[in-house]
Amino acid sequence: MPDVGAAGRDLTALPKAHLHLHLAGSMRPATLVELAGAQGRRLPGELLAPAGTRLDVTARRGWSRFQRLYDAAREVVAGPGEVRRLVGEIAQDERAAGSGWVEVQVDPSSYASRLGGLQPTVELVLDAMREAADTTGTGMALVIAANRTRHPGDAETLARVAKRFAGKGVVGFGLSNDETRGRPEEFAKAFRIARDAGLLSVPHAGELRGIRSVHGAVEALHADRLGHGVRAVEDPATMALLAERGVVLEVCPASNVALGVAGAVELVPVRELRAAGVRVALGADDPLLFRSGLVDQYAAVRDQQGLSDEALAALAADAVRGSAAPDDVRARLLSGIEAWLSSAPAGGSAS
Ligand SMILES: [Zn+2]
Repeated sequence: MPDVGAAGRDLTALPKAHLHLHLAGSMRPATLVELAGAQGRRLPGELLAPAGTRLDVTARRGWSRFQRLYDAAREVVAGPGEVRRLVGEIAQDERAAGSGWVEVQVDPSSYASRLGGLQPTVELVLDAMREAADTTGTGMALVIAANRTRHPGDAETLARVAKRFAGKGVVGFGLSNDETRGRPEEFAKAFRIARDAGLLSVPHAGELRGIRSVHGAVEALHADRLGHGVRAVEDPATMALLAERGVVLEVCPASNVALGVAGAVELVPVRELRAAGVRVALGADDPLLFRSGLVDQYAAVRDQQGLSDEALAALAADAVRGSAAPDDVRARLLSGIEAWLSSAPAGGSAS
């Protein structure tokens, strides 16, 4: 294993954009325990385990077990107070991790019954994001994600809601949940509504399903980014397509390993994708479930794959360029990444 981890620069100080993060999945473990206790809810033991979730979602029942754990965490987000607290804590945690920009995915239909409907849910999250961004200095934006296990008409309804908030804090439209159900092509109309409103197309694809789902997301949904997309590595022509279109893959190493998509961090194809010219942005996906934040993802590919600081800085820059951050934030983060790279490595040469 290359010995670059010891002498690398401080990864917390590397300016970052975090593009793949789900709202309830980003809750602090202590907050989950506190809220569940206050509400008299019993939590599944796996949610409380310090090691985090480990499931093989590529096996038949794995995904539904994962989804049940996620749903149990989401249950404690019972009202506006919890939403504001979660969003505020995400901003604090991301700021501590060196993120200057964060895009959080939310499926408003999972909260609508508790928060007064789809539109009030979006308004609440956006208001909480503005407040958290003002307090922490870390910019926040919302990706509205449709549930691919539901009817495509529901996704179209959500896309119309997203459209109403384009330019007002909603920056993208996603597609989440069990990838083995709901092919990308079925959601083409919803994504057309979102893209026509100027939103980024950011569906999950190429995680549980192979290159066909990647092609579906790229061709039918005109994806600007893919959630995961790692299985593109199975086909050079697919990687060439992603490279040619400039599609950014939101690669989440800890998630891939915890969910059995990759056997180990060494096998998450960051180097292969980059060698093929594909842009890669590291993400944490669900830090609550995997007990691994954004800095941990950079540290994992440094330690387990031997990525140099130059390569890590390139990943950070890909994330910034693939984000919806406003020009001033983008410029500040990119120049910060250059400054990080020209700073002296910790524990480096004494000459
Ligand atoms: Zn995800």
